[in-house]
Amino acid sequence: MTTHISTALSRIAPSQTTAITDRATQLREEGADIISLSVGEPDFASPPHVLEAAKVALDTGQTKYTPVGGTAPMKRAAALHFARDLGIEVPVSQVTVSSGGKQSIFHALVATISEGEEAIIPSPWWVSYPEIVRFAGGQVVPLVTSPKDNFRFTAGQLEAQIGPRTQWLLLNSPGNPTGAYYPADMLRSLGDVLRRHPRVMVMSDDIYAPINYTGESHATLANLCPDLAERIVTISGVSKSHAMTGFRIGVAAGPEWLIRAMEKLQSHSSGNPSSISQAAAIAAFEGPQDFLEEWRERFRARRDMVVSAINDIPGLSTPVPDGAFYCMVDAAPLMERFGDDKQLALQLLDHGVAIVPASGFGGRDGFRISFAAAEDKLEEALRRIAASLA
Ligand code: GLU
Repeated sequence: MTTHISTALSRIAPSQTTAITDRATQLREEGADIISLSVGEPDFASPPHVLEAAKVALDTGQTKYTPVGGTAPMKRAAALHFARDLGIEVPVSQVTVSSGGKQSIFHALVATISEGEEAIIPSPWWVSYPEIVRFAGGQVVPLVTSPKDNFRFTAGQLEAQIGPRTQWLLLNSPGNPTGAYYPADMLRSLGDVLRRHPRVMVMSDDIYAPINYTGESHATLANLCPDLAERIVTISGVSKSHAMTGFRIGVAAGPEWLIRAMEKLQSHSSGNPSSISQAAAIAAFEGPQDFLEEWRERFRARRDMVVSAINDIPGLSTPVPDGAFYCMVDAAPLMERFGDDKQLALQLLDHGVAIVPASGFGGRDGFRISFAAAEDKLEEALRRIAASLA
């Protein structure tokens, strides 16, 4: 059969996180007993005040187009969030709202990368970063991190990767899929490197900011290095923090030219994010925030349980993630038996647990577990993993 796939689409692979999660859902619908730890999605219900705001929006007819980058109240709520939660003070003209953090990232990269330009991406990376860069025609420059460094790179390692074609550094802290968190002193030294390379822009993906186990308040580059803010776009949202994945709302703050460029592209891709979801996200940002601490402590307890159970299974090991709700598990000692991590993932799926192989994240010989699932499911999944590998 003749197909008509573009050169741009041919450069990329489907998202493994969504593909495996969809497969697990399909198997479950067919009656299989599968526990899915493949997606980063909090199991908590979306907060009641958020649901109420969505209902009010429906009942009052807020069911029409809105401005492409979000309504004025939505942009004000996003600006409030950036100032209050991330310490980034920006006027509403430097804020835009999209259908999820992923869309903001897509638009920022596709709007700026020209053929052959380079993006430095710390690996293991979140699945979509390299694919979006490649889709845009850019080159991916991996910055390989290791579990012994808690998957963090240093300023020196960054500088060694910067070349004349470097356009972007993609930074995700706390990070998916490793939980790596860059404290203020590390970010300041990255800022020193960036000052020597004025062409390099930074995408700071702070979507996991409230899920930080270090006890420190969240550190982010645009706040710590305001002199660099003109070349930093910070991504955030409500999906992970407020358990609102299905609402699809992402927010971005950055230089005005880039925000306008993102909105120009969005005007031709999706148009405005859902009007109902915007009403819900305003309630999320403007309403009570105290439950976030309680949720974080629940994630912390799950993290501790998962890390300890994994490290008790022969052949598996993981460092303790400082943030987000993922563990990047090393399974290198088992590779002789399985061949590669995709085979290992298939065996675990056969035993009723869906995880994503490390190779999906530019890593190798391991897998990512999301511990955003309920405690009893996590416990059962870990029993199954141990039994399957015994
Ligand atoms: N960001 C989440 C994850 O990594 C959701 C799925 C996706 O968009 O990749 O599991």
